[in-house]
Amino acid sequence: MADFIEQRLDEIRSRNLYRELKVVDGEQDATVVLNGREVLNLSSNNYLGLANHPALKEAARQALDRYGCGSGASRLISGNMTAHEELEQRLARFKGTEAALVFNSGYQANVGIIATLVEKDDVVLSDQLNHASIIDGCRLSRAAVSVYRHCDMDHLESLLEAAPAEARKLIATESVFSMDGDIAPLRELVELAERHGAMVMVDEAHGTGVRGPNGAGVVAEMGLGDRVLVQMGTLGKALGAFGAYVAGSARLKELLINRARSFIFTTSLPPVVLAMAGAAVDLVEKEPERQCALRHNTERLRNGLGRLGYTVGGSTQIIPVMVGEEQPCMELAARLLDAGFYVQGIRPPTVPPGTSRLRVTTMATHTNEQLDRALDAFARAGENLPGPEYNEPSATAAARQR
Ligand SMILES: *Cc1c(COP(=O)(O)O)cnc(C)c1O
Repeated sequence: MADFIEQRLDEIRSRNLYRELKVVDGEQDATVVLNGREVLNLSSNNYLGLANHPALKEAARQALDRYGCGSGASRLISGNMTAHEELEQRLARFKGTEAALVFNSGYQANVGIIATLVEKDDVVLSDQLNHASIIDGCRLSRAAVSVYRHCDMDHLESLLEAAPAEARKLIATESVFSMDGDIAPLRELVELAERHGAMVMVDEAHGTGVRGPNGAGVVAEMGLGDRVLVQMGTLGKALGAFGAYVAGSARLKELLINRARSFIFTTSLPPVVLAMAGAAVDLVEKEPERQCALRHNTERLRNGLGRLGYTVGGSTQIIPVMVGEEQPCMELAARLLDAGFYVQGIRPPTVPPGTSRLRVTTMATHTNEQLDRALDAFARAGENLPGPEYNEPSATAAARQR
């Protein structure tokens, strides 16, 4: 048996896919102490810099005094506390929906939602670049899965037409794509769904807090709140806390409470975590300047990288710097880290083969000076990278179609 483990690890290493944990000491901030050394953090989803905000800390302290630590049980047993009910009301107001339901994480939310809404003989229509948690939800549901080319609404339409008329259909997409930083064409998608009688689920893991009126996300930004059945989002990224929510109708919430196994069979989140999330929602609504600062920083870095000759994608705070093969991608990340800039290289299976990239993310709390130093480092690190694919946009573009 031990041989199997060794063999698997060797195989992973030989394919340049070996992953290793790095350790952050101290708080999550624009700079972090990584493996003992201070670096600029260009790898976090803590986009608004709320993870160490005094208001979140204070909310957590008060919740600790009022409620103690763990919840002791799942929501349907004895673990449903006023803190859960209050946050759900707060989230529904934030999202402008009838109701909201908190899940322990985005992963668990996606797995639970999809397996609740579709089953054997149904069809999920899923964007090719959807997050692993959506893919796993599809698998768990046992529905047939029709994968459409990334954001390709013509392809989606043809798959909708091909689906059995009597099957229940669910279209699942992210709003801001986690590894590509682009935005789904939600207006067209919703129209297609309505024409074909399909349900729509939008994952706003990277839209929550950073897009739309008061940070309510891309669905709200596009005015589609009433036409999207399921708006899912996370509390652990821009909101700086932990957990996830589903926003929608009261009936949807009722069904999830009764059917979503990843909601039912797990101990509920501790009130401390919920209090942080509530404080973060308050801040996001009260201080829209955080969203503005994030947009400013994103533009500065994205434009700068483009000027340096990098192939950058997307249009949001997630800036993919396309490389292609795994080895040069990880080499570029290593050189940047050497220079004091933490940028994560993303390889298969997180992204399709041949589309390895650096996933650069900006934060509202980065300074201009920090971003300019990062650009200097990118200029130096990009010199003489191994691998023929590097800086040949056509090669990466072709690879992305695979
Ligand atoms: C991070 C992420 C999730 C999972 O959320 P967690 O709360 O981290 O489990 C789901 N969907 C997308 C698109 C994500 O990026």
